[in-house]
Amino acid sequence: MILNLIKNTPPSAISELQQRLTFMGFTVMRGEENNTPVLALVKGIDKTIDIEKFNQLPHVESIIPATDKYILASRQFHPSDTQIKIGSHSIGSGSLTIMAGSCSVESEEQIFTTAKIVSQHGATILRGGAFKPRTSPYDFQGLGEIGLVYLSDAAKAHNMLCVSEVMDSADVELLEKYVDILQVGARNMQNFSLLKAVGRSQKPVLLKRGLSATYHDLLMAAEYILSEGNPNIILCERGIRTYETFTRNTLDIAAVPVLKSLSHLPVIVDPSHGVGIREFISPLAYAAIAAGADGLIIEVHPTPDKALSDAKQTISPEHFASIMKVLPSLKQLT
Ligand code: PEP
Ligand code: MN
Repeated sequence: MILNLIKNTPPSAISELQQRLTFMGFTVMRGEENNTPVLALVKGIDKTIDIEKFNQLPHVESIIPATDKYILASRQFHPSDTQIKIGSHSIGSGSLTIMAGSCSVESEEQIFTTAKIVSQHGATILRGGAFKPRTSPYDFQGLGEIGLVYLSDAAKAHNMLCVSEVMDSADVELLEKYVDILQVGARNMQNFSLLKAVGRSQKPVLLKRGLSATYHDLLMAAEYILSEGNPNIILCERGIRTYETFTRNTLDIAAVPVLKSLSHLPVIVDPSHGVGIREFISPLAYAAIAAGADGLIIEVHPTPDKALSDAKQTISPEHFASIMKVLPSLKQLT
């Protein structure tokens, strides 16, 4: 259930009400929409409760009996788009955010060269994995901490932010030292202890859709993070498993408008993992932006065929440049 409070209710009065509701046995999360405070009762509501009673509480303007299980991620709780601010960068709510870089950080020289190329063409967030979730234990697993050092230095040298995957809740603190955005990968989308750990972090989270996750599953995963107090989540459609085997995954473009209608959180698309074949990255990147995505995350490498992971889906600097030229005009259509 969501309680919309009267505009400009003083913070002390909101805290008092929050305490009172907590004392009554509810778990209460606080939000705000255009100076209007909002309280979400995320736990403790059952069918026996007389909703009308809440109208009599002080400072309550109106009540929404939340219909979605993902209350905090829903538009009912937060009708307008969430805009995530990191320094002078902003993600969501009209801006176009491009994250680009190699699948893995391979060496200092490789990630510095990559950062230079992608930033020249307009990417503002450098991607690169240092802890890699590989299908085979015998494949390159990433450089670990030193990879994060290279990634962070390369990003700073080119005035970029950086994003990297955290695979284990024990590593959250380590990743926080180096990256601006914590990535939770598709395989970990329902690793609930990891979701709780990144939920306690101050860093924004890039949450990738699981291989067989429904929209509901993805939004419930976001809810885990939100319920721990971290409001800054970017949802990412990165393709799902279907009966089609020609492509690596099936990129679900419908996820973009659907997720954006259900949730206020920014939605980006990963065409690289979505299709897995480099020649199909451009049309899918265009489709994602035309469908209303807030940005893209794309794998780019100075010499794609030599990439240590995901070479087949990694595009060249020239290919990336050609995609970047088209995106602003597509974004304007939405
Ligand atoms: C990645 O971004 O390199 C990655 C492993 O992504 P996903 O979790 O979507 O497979
Ligand atoms: Mn990859």
